[in-house]
Amino acid sequence: MREKIVAGNWKMNCDIQEMKTLLNDLKEKDFNDGVKVMVAPSFTNLYLAKEILNDTNIEVAAQNMHEAENGAYTGEISAPMLTSLQVKTVILGHSERRSIFNESNELLASKVKSALAKGLKIIFCIGEELEARKNNKHVEVVKKQLSDSVFTLTEEEWKSITLAYEPVWAIGTGETASPQQAQDMHTGIRKMIADTYSSATAEKVSILYGGSVKPNNAKEIFAMQDVDGGLIGGAALKAEDFTQIINSF
Ligand code: PGA
Repeated sequence: MREKIVAGNWKMNCDIQEMKTLLNDLKEKDFNDGVKVMVAPSFTNLYLAKEILNDTNIEVAAQNMHEAENGAYTGEISAPMLTSLQVKTVILGHSERRSIFNESNELLASKVKSALAKGLKIIFCIGEELEARKNNKHVEVVKKQLSDSVFTLTEEEWKSITLAYEPVWAIGTGETASPQQAQDMHTGIRKMIADTYSSATAEKVSILYGGSVKPNNAKEIFAMQDVDGGLIGGAALKAEDFTQIINSF
């Protein structure tokens, strides 16, 4: 059985006060069994988020990290800094990091290595832009993102990898991939993993879908056989919506 995960990527939202309210609201909710729930606040909120969620099953993830362990990298945060807060998971390769902050597949490969070396788990994001989808190049793009950044890992290292397929044209746009489009890509990704490693490994990797998942469409997306959960942006900022999405499994 693959792990089912619903993770909230808060992006650059929520100051300390707003986070306290959101997390305390979430703590009041009942989540269905069998789904791992995560939230990814900004760096400044990680410590307090860990404290507030200490007595819950909600896990705290980081949204990014630098590939170096320490040094003269003003404004950056390293893997050891995250592990020193007992943060266990980091999101890498989000399309906003790729497009706005120019993170290449090669840079992401070194971030992945560095995170794994410190024992962090990774939610690794992949996904094509609209142009690639229109030109029927979406599978090729995703394959390259995987080949260049994570297909060099060992099978053992894949135990720490969760993938998130997020078509860029569906992020924050209100437009979702259809459940079938998500399923097709997820099956394709699983086949790529099987071809590179083994079907046993491919069967174990959780692949989340992300891009405008909302309470009203989560159920049909999560019903797809190869969709193992969601990476949720906008809808994760409201406790009620996020809970409804989690409970759509
Ligand atoms: P969205 O964001 O749910 O607001 O589309 C998803 C994401 O960027 O992870």
